[in-house]
Amino acid sequence: MDWKKFRDLPIEERLRYVQEKCGLSDEEVRMLRGGFLDEDTANHMIENVIGSIKLPIGIATNFVVNGKEYLIPMAIEESSVVAAASNAAKLCRGSGGFAAEADDSIMIGQIFIRDFDSRATDRIIAEKDRIRREANPADSTLVASGGGMEDLEVREVGDRLCVHLLIDVKDAMGANFVNSTVERVAPLLEEITGGKVVLKILSNLAVYRKVRAKAVWDKGFLEESFKESGDYKAEDIVNGIIELWNIAKEDPYRRATHNKGMMNGIDALMIATGNDWRAIESGVHAYSMLTGGLLTRFSATAEGNLEGFIEIPLAAGIVGGATKINPVAQVCLKILGVKSAKELACVAASVGLANNFAALRVLSTEGVQRGHMKLHATNIAHMAGANGRNIERVAQIMIQEKKISVARAKEILEEII
Ligand code: NAD
Repeated sequence: MDWKKFRDLPIEERLRYVQEKCGLSDEEVRMLRGGFLDEDTANHMIENVIGSIKLPIGIATNFVVNGKEYLIPMAIEESSVVAAASNAAKLCRGSGGFAAEADDSIMIGQIFIRDFDSRATDRIIAEKDRIRREANPADSTLVASGGGMEDLEVREVGDRLCVHLLIDVKDAMGANFVNSTVERVAPLLEEITGGKVVLKILSNLAVYRKVRAKAVWDKGFLEESFKESGDYKAEDIVNGIIELWNIAKEDPYRRATHNKGMMNGIDALMIATGNDWRAIESGVHAYSMLTGGLLTRFSATAEGNLEGFIEIPLAAGIVGGATKINPVAQVCLKILGVKSAKELACVAASVGLANNFAALRVLSTEGVQRGHMKLHATNIAHMAGANGRNIERVAQIMIQEKKISVARAKEILEEII
């Protein structure tokens, strides 16, 4: 498929392509189109339900991760994110796309204890096997498939002991499993330490569940990518991106926006696949604070090309939570075609690196407004009552005139109808 053509196809034909490529049934296509979430399902997902809200789902294209081609479903209300990710992926396809690897799905369950005996830490470590037996009940599906508590660590936090249970949650996000486990183990820890458990809960700072991705953008392709919009030299583009990355490293105000751009596509993928994106956001930003810096890195290779790297914690699943309950999330997972939580993490990290690269590429050259202007004009044309092909014509005229307003859009509409 020529992805430039995909962009220009009517929705019907884009859907037909995705249906054929991903083996979707007519019912699954209907779900995608209808944003299908029936009242009964919604009513059982959260409390006091009165409805549900739709978001557009777009497909980010051109992604090759570890040699495999992916169609990436993104649910998002913000324009440009899908296009930016797709363009970034296109520009590194020639150098092999993204290479990514993910840690095992190890989550941390925290148990805080106060008023403990003086030898509590030694005793916890000596009783590790007993704690593991309590944590891993034989009748658990997850334990039966090789998951469950693997290890523990003990920290001192103020006057309290904090025990971390390191739990492999396999293909789940794992919050419920971890929370059940820490609640089950807490009484045993009180017995072992002689103390009182005051808090038992999962940590969203999933430092043992990190994922890394890297990609190289050829400087020649970078220069070529601006041929219609400006005259930028390859070396200046590469150096410009690295300079902006350095600014984000040095300035927390810029870093907040840099990281927001990095999360744009990751969140959109997480929402599309029914994952808890607040948990992922929380983990990523906490990790940024913990490491005191950026989670992406850009540098020049010996040949002068641009190399990008990302490392983030990512607690996302393909089973459990809303991934199975929301039928649209199931269809999106089918389109994505990932077979494990680790594979999902590899794709998500690649998307994060792509969006981060895309933002730095435009910020270091033509600025973000040029691309946004077209979308802004399109939205204004729509607000003024244009539809179908008229939207693009009205938007184009307003851009040429450099006058974008609802009033002008209405005038143009009257002129061309
Ligand atoms: P879940 O409770 O649905 O558990 C996953 C289930 O899938 C388990 O029962 C497991 O036995 C089963 N399973 C089958 N095959 C599996 C496989 N291959 N790998 C792993 N599990 C397999 O979901 P969860 O992932 O434990 O919890 C996720 C939910 O918890 C999300 O909805 C999230 O919003 C919510 N949550 C989050 C927080 C937080 O982030 N702080 C806190 C509480 C709850």
